[in-house]
Amino acid sequence: MEPRASVRQIAGDLARGDCSSVELAEQTLDRAARLNESLNCLITVDEDRALAAARRADDRLRNGSATPLTGIPIAHKDVFCIDGWRTTCGSRMLADFTAPYTATAIQRLIDAGTVTVGKTNMDEFAMGSSNETSYFGPVANPWRHETVPGGSSGGSAACVAAGITPLATGTDTGGSIRQPAAFCGVTGLKPTYGSVSRYGMIAFASSLDQGGVFGGSVDDVALALSYMAGFDPRDSTSSEREDAWLAGVPRHGVGELEEPLTVGLPKEFFAHISDGAQHLDGVRRALERLGFRFREVSLPHTDAAVAAYYIVAGAEASTNLSRYDGVRFGHRCSGPASLEDLYERSRSEGFGAEVKRRILTGTYALSVGYFDAYYVKAQRIRRLVREDFLRAFETVDLLLAPVAPGTAFPRNAFAEDPVAMYSQDVFTIPVSLAGLPALSVPCGLHDGLPVGAQFIARHFDEERLLKTAAAYQCATDWHRQRPALPP
Ligand code: GLN
Repeated sequence: MEPRASVRQIAGDLARGDCSSVELAEQTLDRAARLNESLNCLITVDEDRALAAARRADDRLRNGSATPLTGIPIAHKDVFCIDGWRTTCGSRMLADFTAPYTATAIQRLIDAGTVTVGKTNMDEFAMGSSNETSYFGPVANPWRHETVPGGSSGGSAACVAAGITPLATGTDTGGSIRQPAAFCGVTGLKPTYGSVSRYGMIAFASSLDQGGVFGGSVDDVALALSYMAGFDPRDSTSSEREDAWLAGVPRHGVGELEEPLTVGLPKEFFAHISDGAQHLDGVRRALERLGFRFREVSLPHTDAAVAAYYIVAGAEASTNLSRYDGVRFGHRCSGPASLEDLYERSRSEGFGAEVKRRILTGTYALSVGYFDAYYVKAQRIRRLVREDFLRAFETVDLLLAPVAPGTAFPRNAFAEDPVAMYSQDVFTIPVSLAGLPALSVPCGLHDGLPVGAQFIARHFDEERLLKTAAAYQCATDWHRQRPALPP
């Protein structure tokens, strides 16, 4: 099987019996072992479980109960709990944690017959934009090993870009699917907040966290989403509108739009872009040739979004991460002298520097005397950012925007300046604050590194989001470009 074949091609080969799921799993494990040494994109690979799942998939392929995902190898971001699998969240805190249950989104993919081969590397607790905060070491970008793959789902993006697995899951709180997809030249989908269950997904910032998926094309991610998404009573913010909504995410091909749409170009976003603006022009021209119309729109509160996000996300993280106290969960220090000492040393040893920074700033923003000045103000900004989008969507159907100000940066580029790293999220964070669905697709190469274009849609309008991006991919072939790696 050719690395980076599409999910439907692979499913066709499996259905015809050109190869078995076990053979495919063996090839995948072999490629993972060869490439992971230099990429470090997988924290855990479990051959026995992968082969057992592949045998079950072969049974289903034989007895007629297969789905289009049966036998498809997949890797899951190590933020998702899977029963019996080590689940680290990229942290020393959970380095020895074996999950006792499976996240709903992953269970749905398992039920469809996918073959889990491993858990992907990530920024610690999903906090980061470069995968450099992982306790398990940085991930290399398959396009240029000395650059970062993006983050926090950088391991998943690298895994798909390197052709190890055709699909990998991720989570996006402020950009963690879209930005690594852009840096690694793959397609990455962050669905509407509430559409993919958060149950079993280790929490970072619960009002923002959303599961999603990476693949080689819009069609692949749409297919995966059609299985992952749906109402889950175990997630209090899960949306119940699944039927009407999922009908727009067809399992049998993304399909075509009835008529071309009007796409907005947010002028505040384009003011910030440094590399790759000409590639976004290319997207516009390709869509104009298909009849799409473009017009400028304004999202006036863009400049305040990053600051508001880092307050809200930090505040939520500081409460979510309080459960790692060395008693019920997480790393426990040795020989504690008292309960106080146990908490203090377990948490000091278990968390890395970036996670500590978030807990400290988040706790500060929530503390008496600062709550109104920081947290309440950030929530007000969040509402204004959301209203900006809703107003823009009164005149346009979708938005086209950059994903990041530049392409993949060298490791350590922002080591001395975390705030400069945070400001890299300027185009993804507003969308997260508003809870909107968005997709990153490859749209060019700048000095040999991939550039991504971001499509943003109204809440629960994945249908038009996916159809528009699929129309773009039908007309172009940037998503077929691959990094030069061994075959
Ligand atoms: N880079 C952002 C952060 O560090 C977003 C991370 C994410 O989406 N998980 O918070």
